[in-house]
Amino acid sequence: MRRGNGAGVPTHIIVCPFCEAGLPIPDDFDAIYRCECGACYKVCSDNMLERGVYDIAEELWTEEELHFIQNVPLDVCNIVVEKDFDRLLDLRQSSDAAILERFCKYDTREHLSLVWVKRLI
Ligand SMILES: [Zn+2]
Repeated sequence: MRRGNGAGVPTHIIVCPFCEAGLPIPDDFDAIYRCECGACYKVCSDNMLERGVYDIAEELWTEEELHFIQNVPLDVCNIVVEKDFDRLLDLRQSSDAAILERFCKYDTREHLSLVWVKRLI
């Protein structure tokens, strides 16, 4: 069944787990995106999740703050990992060919997740 919006505007969105805002699906897998509530998110392959969280942390905190929070036994952020990002991407790829170029940079056998980090302090 086809719907009649011939413009090809991407309609798939992701939803922020912290404020439930609708956001565009990231198409630059190297970039860190920011929600209006302050949460940051990034696409990571499953075996690079820790690295991804660290990348986002560098965006959220200054170097001094990072040094501090790494040495305190406190919860300093909320982390949400969405494992079904691959499925979302499949949906979008079927409607938007442009993202394929980006996708080729990655080993397609790796699963991709969407990592969200929001600071608490
Ligand atoms: Zn948000």
